[in-house]
Amino acid sequence: MYDTIADHPWSENIVRLRKSQTGKVGKVSTPTIAQEGKGIILTGSNGPASMPVVIAVPKELTIGEDRVATVPEVVQKLTKPGYEVRIEHDAGMNAFYPDALYLAAGAKIASSQKDLLNGARIVLHVQPPTISEIDQLDEGTIVIGFMNATNNLEAVARMRDRKITAFALELVPRITRAQSMDALSSQATAGGYTAAILGANNCPKFLPMLTTAAGTIRPATVLILGAGVAGLMAIATAKRLGAIVEAYDVRRAAGEQVRSLGAKFLELEINAEGQGGYARELTTGEKAMEQQMVSAAVARADIVITTANIPGRKAPLLITKETVATMRPGAVIVDLAAESGGNCELTQAGKTVREHGVMIMGPQNLPARIPFHASQMYAKNLQSFLGLLFDKDGTIVKEFSDEILIASLLVHAGEVRHGPTRDLMSGGKP
Ligand code: NAD
Repeated sequence: MYDTIADHPWSENIVRLRKSQTGKVGKVSTPTIAQEGKGIILTGSNGPASMPVVIAVPKELTIGEDRVATVPEVVQKLTKPGYEVRIEHDAGMNAFYPDALYLAAGAKIASSQKDLLNGARIVLHVQPPTISEIDQLDEGTIVIGFMNATNNLEAVARMRDRKITAFALELVPRITRAQSMDALSSQATAGGYTAAILGANNCPKFLPMLTTAAGTIRPATVLILGAGVAGLMAIATAKRLGAIVEAYDVRRAAGEQVRSLGAKFLELEINAEGQGGYARELTTGEKAMEQQMVSAAVARADIVITTANIPGRKAPLLITKETVATMRPGAVIVDLAAESGGNCELTQAGKTVREHGVMIMGPQNLPARIPFHASQMYAKNLQSFLGLLFDKDGTIVKEFSDEILIASLLVHAGEVRHGPTRDLMSGGKP
């Protein structure tokens, strides 16, 4: 474990980096990373008194996961009141946050997962922890991240059995007070942007209108199906690239937001606003109406970006294989709902397929393709969430009484606290 810049093998680089940040030579102070003197007093199972709370950030092990759960800017904020932030060696490498920047921000770098987790009180993750990681955690350790419980029941069960406390960020309620912790939204923003760029990059046409000596180029048409957080970001990005943008959502309230971005909202006599601002599932008759209208819009589009989802259900089918056959050769579909079954009948999750000259992309984990900023936004979400876990005096709260903590608590004290996950584990439906 490296405590100071001088201990780190890249110490010279760090000093150089600080020099470039401050513009001054010789004014580089070694950060006081081990702030034992300012340690948080813990009681009960929180660990020995006078030891700082250790917040650990592992390297993500999921293939393709290039994000990291905290960034140097947030480390600086967390170490200020005296928490010890430990980063696993190279945890931020794929998001372009090298160890040197974390060290300079006041973190310690742990050379192995074992060193990282030894005595950790809080573990910050992007993806759910692995079984081997859970087995290294002390009873009562708090793990925070996306838990994707439905697909990770084994990890949920192990956390329950080892009396780990797990908060699932995807369960944070979408209330105004929780906006700064809304990692679903921050990552959907990153996903929507990346989807528009991916579509543009694979489209054989210019997106903007061009008037040149070589003739006039007509702008491309981009259709966005599902105008939630990701969809609105895709609309804004496609508009900035100069395309003609059309969008559709079953929630009529989305129309105003679509129009405010300068896109055309496709109206249909359906308003399927469900609970909590999400969409409800359509009736059979509504589905037929929707597919008819969507098919006509899909056929005239050069790029279609689909983001339609209904929480806890398979994604709605909006583009049939017959509709794909009516599209122009060279058209591109980017299906952001690929992981939940796809909005296009021909989508294959994690793959790009070609049918009738149309490219159908089913990318997974798009936010990880823009890891620098996606990590920065995620880290800020976590920083806000951590604010709920500490008292004014800096100790971890003894009771999780805040409604945001209650809603996002997945596992605690040997019990699965999230009802649908508990039902699923006992053989019932989610
Ligand atoms: P989501 O990812 O669950 O779904 C994406 C979009 O798909 C939604 O807009 C939904 O209406 C749409 N959709 C579902 N079925 C469809 C169908 N058959 N055809 C067309 N579109 C369909 O949703 P999301 O983007 O995470 O958020 C959705 C809602 O939550 C929005 O109203 C958003 O403004 C709201 N929200 C509120 C807050 C807050 O208040 N803090 C934060 C984030 C989001």
